[in-house]
Amino acid sequence: MIVIFGFGKTTKRKFGLLHDKKCKFCQDGNEYELLRIITWFTLFFLPIIPYKFRYYLVCSNCERGFEITKDQFNSIKETELRSYTNYKDTMEDDPYAGKNEVQKNFLMSMEKARKQRENN
Ligand SMILES: [Zn+2]
Repeated sequence: MIVIFGFGKTTKRKFGLLHDKKCKFCQDGNEYELLRIITWFTLFFLPIIPYKFRYYLVCSNCERGFEITKDQFNSIKETELRSYTNYKDTMEDDPYAGKNEVQKNFLMSMEKARKQRENN
């Protein structure tokens, strides 16, 4: 019997907008979107176990952003997020699919920073 498993699937959930925060990248945006990205352990291409949670604040104007900790995520979600919406997870096979160059660069630099952190 052949068992097919992998870590290729990620789901992304938008939690809402954080207003009145000046974007430090483009200077035009004044709201961030709170995102959670889960990477799944998959068995026969079905997501079974969430094995990595990552949290981001992303500018809704230029779509650049930065990774935040789980504690920061929770405190923003509970206290600062005014337009909280329980969006559904969107399934993505390839974290870079459908992204433009700027978004890809952002995701890749996040990935690189995360790997560096893990190595330290
Ligand atoms: Zn921006």
